[in-house]
Amino acid sequence: MFMNIPVEPFRIKTVERIRQTTREEREAYLKEAGLNVFAVPSESIFVDLLTDSGTSAMSDQQWGGLLTGDEAYAGSRSFYRFEAAIRDITGFPQVIPTHQGRVAENLLFSTICRPGITIPNNTHFDTTHANVAANGADALNLPVPEALHPETEHPFKGNMNLEALEKVLTERKGSIPLVAMTVTNNSAGGQPVSMENIKATSQICRKHGVPFFFDCARYAENCWFIHEREAGYKNKKVIDIAREMFSYADGCWMSAKKDALVNIGGFLAMKDEKLAQTLRNKLILIEGFPTYGGLAGRDLEAIAIGLYEGLDEDYLKYRTEQVRYLGEMLMAGGVPLVKPIGGHAVFIDALAFCPHIPQSEFPGVALTVALYREAGIRAVEIGSMMFAEKDPKTGKVEYPPLDLVRLAIPRRVYTNTHMAYVADAIVAVYKNRDKLRGLRLTYEAPMLRHFTARLEEV
Ligand SMILES: *Cc1c(COP(=O)(O)O)cnc(C)c1O
Repeated sequence: MFMNIPVEPFRIKTVERIRQTTREEREAYLKEAGLNVFAVPSESIFVDLLTDSGTSAMSDQQWGGLLTGDEAYAGSRSFYRFEAAIRDITGFPQVIPTHQGRVAENLLFSTICRPGITIPNNTHFDTTHANVAANGADALNLPVPEALHPETEHPFKGNMNLEALEKVLTERKGSIPLVAMTVTNNSAGGQPVSMENIKATSQICRKHGVPFFFDCARYAENCWFIHEREAGYKNKKVIDIAREMFSYADGCWMSAKKDALVNIGGFLAMKDEKLAQTLRNKLILIEGFPTYGGLAGRDLEAIAIGLYEGLDEDYLKYRTEQVRYLGEMLMAGGVPLVKPIGGHAVFIDALAFCPHIPQSEFPGVALTVALYREAGIRAVEIGSMMFAEKDPKTGKVEYPPLDLVRLAIPRRVYTNTHMAYVADAIVAVYKNRDKLRGLRLTYEAPMLRHFTARLEEV
């Protein structure tokens, strides 16, 4: 009310020291790491924006929950609390705990996918895509056209392309066991999906008799955007928006490492008892007994508490405003970004940031090197290093349409002063952007090369 900066709705009870290094130290770390920030030890990083996954700060209530967690092998009190929270929010009776989101994906897609099957989604997250593809099925992305243009402002850029969905459901009748929707749409820049689009997707699925599931890692952030941006939701509580959203679906899976504010965990929830039984039988084989599924009782306790904290409106206001605060400071400094600013991260358009570096010389990676070298900040490239594909026959390299650098903001971890520091540093790098140099690979692994690649400056 008094200030334009997003004030933190918490005070700090425990602190963790972080240390700024000298430029010389950072040069040495970069050299050692082959100019790949994945290989830089976290202790030598000042502000770490590599990911918002599993990096949240837990609350005093959650840390208290770790002590009161029930570690019984079967029928733990903490499981019943976890199950009750998920049933309360989603309305789905069948609840299956897993140790991360991708195990939920593995259980589900190894059961329903095989060659000839198609799984449509607004945009598959990379682990989702991999779990569908690993079972021989087609992971089909159906984003709206606006999602592919970084400059285009749209309040719900994460929406499903409804005409395209209708068309595949007709053309591939009988080979689509489920339609998925990712909220917020992570791979499309953390952009939200509107309730109108959720409802319409649900109606199309019902018409074709196909179940509809959410990949809901960031559902609370999505519900907050509905509350803020969609007509008719201003006066509705965010938890009720969530309940409405889930009422249109048949099930969901979640990586609790995002909006459930914990460092590990995930789950599946659904209406279909028979499918749930099949998944539980598999769960026992690869994770554990159905009342813990690869987690300790204390983890289940922390998730049960974190799910409600993640829906707290003061928290969600601060959370989304902090991400926007960083984005707006960068825009004021002229830095080219994906617009509008998403829910969990700010994405820099690296092709516009350093137009003198061709995609073959990894402009996004060059920018991550400069951010670490100049300021001890770690970001991640989502561009030619991660996605360029070589045609095995012609040897010609196909580059992705965008080269982005993601600044993912961990939840409740950094203050707004840290955000101001990051913005200042990036604007300074932008002013000297003609000094950034292209890179070439000296080592690449045959798959997922971005994690272990080594590079040198051209
Ligand atoms: C993180 C994430 C996953 C995978 O979850 P993990 O907990 O990392 O295994 C799946 N889908 C989305 C949308 C995610 O953000």
